[in-house]
Amino acid sequence: MDFSFTKEQEELREEFDVFFKEEMKNAPPKWGKGGLESIYATDEGFEFHKYMAKKLGEKGWISRAWPKEYGGQAVPLIEQFIFNEVRGYYGAPGIDGFGVGMFAPTLMVGANEEQKNRLLPPIARGEVFYCQGWSEPDAGSDLASLSTTAIRDGDYYVVNGHKTWTSGAHKADHMFLLARTDPDSTRSRGLSVFNVVMDYPGIEIRPLLFMDNKHVYNEVYFKDVRIPAKDLIGKENEGWALTRQTMNFERSGGGGFLSAKKSVFDIIDYVKSTRRDGKLLSENPVVRQKLAKLYIGTEVGQALAYRINYEQEKGGLIFAASAASESKVFGTELAQRVANYATEIMGLYGQLAPSKWAPLDGEMIDGYQFAPAANIYAGSNEIQRNLIAWVGLNLPRFK
Ligand SMILES: Cc1cc2nc3c(=O)[nH]c(=O)nc-3n(C[C@H](O)[C@H](O)[C@H](O)COP(=O)(O)OP(=O)(O)OC[C@H]3O[C@@H](n4cnc5c(N)ncnc54)[C@H](O)[C@@H]3O)c2cc1C
Repeated sequence: MDFSFTKEQEELREEFDVFFKEEMKNAPPKWGKGGLESIYATDEGFEFHKYMAKKLGEKGWISRAWPKEYGGQAVPLIEQFIFNEVRGYYGAPGIDGFGVGMFAPTLMVGANEEQKNRLLPPIARGEVFYCQGWSEPDAGSDLASLSTTAIRDGDYYVVNGHKTWTSGAHKADHMFLLARTDPDSTRSRGLSVFNVVMDYPGIEIRPLLFMDNKHVYNEVYFKDVRIPAKDLIGKENEGWALTRQTMNFERSGGGGFLSAKKSVFDIIDYVKSTRRDGKLLSENPVVRQKLAKLYIGTEVGQALAYRINYEQEKGGLIFAASAASESKVFGTELAQRVANYATEIMGLYGQLAPSKWAPLDGEMIDGYQFAPAANIYAGSNEIQRNLIAWVGLNLPRFK
């Protein structure tokens, strides 16, 4: 069995590599690893995200693997995967994780033709940015218990309720919303998906500051917000099945493992140039063992991501939920191990915010502070393990 990439795929990787290496010179100071904080916490960060999205859109790189009729080039998914890996390595923005990563594939499997033609091309051009309106104060892991309502009124749905943790809502143009269209329903029955324009009257966005005081997350309140009925995606009251597919798209991203690998390489550079008690850290056997372990983790993670890519190529965009959950659990826990180890090895200096004293520009402490959240977002890791047990291992469903 030959696992290597073709010559054409290697050339493509090189092309992406040259592009991102060059463009990342335009990143604002203290850009970080390209995660939610890099993009949403400052105006410069979001401007850079938009600048890159436009560039990627012009090149047709946001949507290379999409069908041609929606602005894509219909290339094999593996090419898009290579793109994601290189972008992840450089911590580059420009791909809206919510719009491109989650909602666009959801539209492809669940929207009608008019919606696909209207909503997909602006996403492909990098012009429209989304946020995810799912979680509520009393509905997180148990998302199906959500209580925001969207009640039909002629050609509109009228939305009332309260979403929370909405990443980037203060910068987003649109939201994909999950709301209860049948007020008498319980649990997953009676839910529907909507495309919501964020400046509709009645939407109020309040910041939910992270522990480092950065504004990345929000609460979003809906008071009698009127959404045109044409923006119901899929069938009324059948939004849960569609949302479960969106969840898989959210959890399967491959670029994260290359981002972790880049961090491991950065730590390797650090230990090769830092002495403790007169000796280079890179000569310390414990340091070497730990770095080898982390590196193995990045290789295993990449293999998991390749498997999802293979499943997608084989079975279309809908693929095994348990494979997506495996990737999510492993990737987020690996990111935590990398951040923990980096700050441990750097000692007290590793805890400094970006300054001339902070090793590696203070990047690792940012990762360390964010890492616990990774266990929780996109469905907590306990929930993912329940899914792996149930769907992947055929164990009885957890009630
Ligand atoms: C950084 C960050 C960004 C986020 N961004 C968004 C966003 O953009 N849009 C959005 O809609 N949401 C977002 N979320 C919300 C996220 O999806 C929820 O926080 C998550 O689903 C968990 O829900 P909860 O916070 O209500 O915790 P709870 O559901 O109350 O869970 C509390 C604890 O109980 C455990 N638990 C719950 N049920 C079970 C079970 N059946 N078996 C075992 N353990 C269980 C959980 O694992 C967790 O440890 C974000 C969250 C974070 C942290």
